[in-house]
Amino acid sequence: MNPRNELDTPMFRLAVAQFDQAAELMGLDRNLRERLKLPDRSLIVSVPIRMDSGTVKVFTGYRVQHDSARGPSKGGIRYHPDVNLGEVAALAMWMTWKCALAGLPYGGAKGGVRVAPEQLSSAELQRLTRRYASEIFPMIGPDQDVPAPDVGTDAQVMAWIMDTYSQQVGYAVPGVVTGKPLSIGGSLGREEATGRGVVYVTLEAMRHLNLTIDQATVVVQGFGNVGSHTARIMHEAGAKVIAVSDKTGGLYRAGGLDIPMLLSRYQAEKQPLRDTKLGEWMTNEELLALPCTVLVPAALSEQITMDNAARIRCRILAEGANGPTTLDADPILTDQGVFIIPDILANSGGVIVSYFEWVQDAQRFFWKATDIQDRLHEIITTAFQRTIEFSTRRRTSMRMAALMNGIDHVAQAHLSRGLYP
Ligand code: NAD
Repeated sequence: MNPRNELDTPMFRLAVAQFDQAAELMGLDRNLRERLKLPDRSLIVSVPIRMDSGTVKVFTGYRVQHDSARGPSKGGIRYHPDVNLGEVAALAMWMTWKCALAGLPYGGAKGGVRVAPEQLSSAELQRLTRRYASEIFPMIGPDQDVPAPDVGTDAQVMAWIMDTYSQQVGYAVPGVVTGKPLSIGGSLGREEATGRGVVYVTLEAMRHLNLTIDQATVVVQGFGNVGSHTARIMHEAGAKVIAVSDKTGGLYRAGGLDIPMLLSRYQAEKQPLRDTKLGEWMTNEELLALPCTVLVPAALSEQITMDNAARIRCRILAEGANGPTTLDADPILTDQGVFIIPDILANSGGVIVSYFEWVQDAQRFFWKATDIQDRLHEIITTAFQRTIEFSTRRRTSMRMAALMNGIDHVAQAHLSRGLYP
């Protein structure tokens, strides 16, 4: 099998099409375009594990480093049955632009295993993680490539990766992953960071559009790490969160959902979303079409497409997920007056606080929660202001402005370093 063929998936095509559009608008050097379109390194690994039943099952894992001109590469690890090389490579490319846009000294990477984690026992999940970590061991390291959580992985998975890596080198290396538990060098505020960042940039967008949070209605698709923290922090900030969903469907209440009660039933008591009975039940498709001030897709990619874009009725689309909107849906949304906060800006709070965690690990010196929040606020609102200023000056969309900004930083790094040999 030719691995380059494996790259050719809808998500990789989306990432490349966005890149091509931005590169064209900025008149990017042709030679650089060729280099930046493909990942630097891609590793496909077999991950054999013994199941609790005694049989051996082999899963497929990936780690892709898209670019490392600006520093070690950084990016999450996804456990999901649809994971493939093209998806991981697309996510790695977006990480490159995201880190550059935020001014973090990182390149972009991503990893994943094609698995449905909820179908594994905790012991199987641990064996899978440890074997995957040892298979990608040659690629990762605190100065090389630093994984973090993404869909289907969490702080516990990061702890197992940190331990596996540390066992191999013979001493504790907290900086090899971010998003790990506090007990082994995690950072305060990392778990909620992506959601908090989504809220900070949404508040900036509201200020720009003369909207106020206490009048705002919010719809969140996906109620995992990003979605649940976004809903909670939006609620705490005074917005009315009228609908949330997970992969089973959505819960809607016109007067606003009781978010603290919902979190307690869904997360603490592990009730299915529908059984919480805190709102009316609807499909994800219906949820996306609800009239609202802010729509936050915080699940998977390609949720807003040419087919449903005309039905989207929000004022602000804050992309918590990576790649939730297809390229052909963008102009439809813009024509409807939707203000888009693109993924590489909207969800950059996660990697920004991951950066803080990595810095704290390197310094062996840990910060207060308020330091984390203040610094996150400063970096993400500066990135927002830079993007909106660029978008206004160049008369281009927020998505193109964010991409062009990110790509430009990476291009400058390549031009400074030159082409080896
Ligand atoms: P997660 O696994 O914690 O949550 C995903 C949620 O999406 C779950 O509630 C799941 O039920 C729901 N979901 C899955 N399929 C769905 C569907 N078809 N319709 C509606 N809901 C569906 O994952 P996460 O970490 O919250 O990541 C969500 C998105 O945010 C991903 O695109 C991820 O790449 C992106 N992201 C995550 C982080 C982070 O720090 N975790 C940072 C930046 C971006």
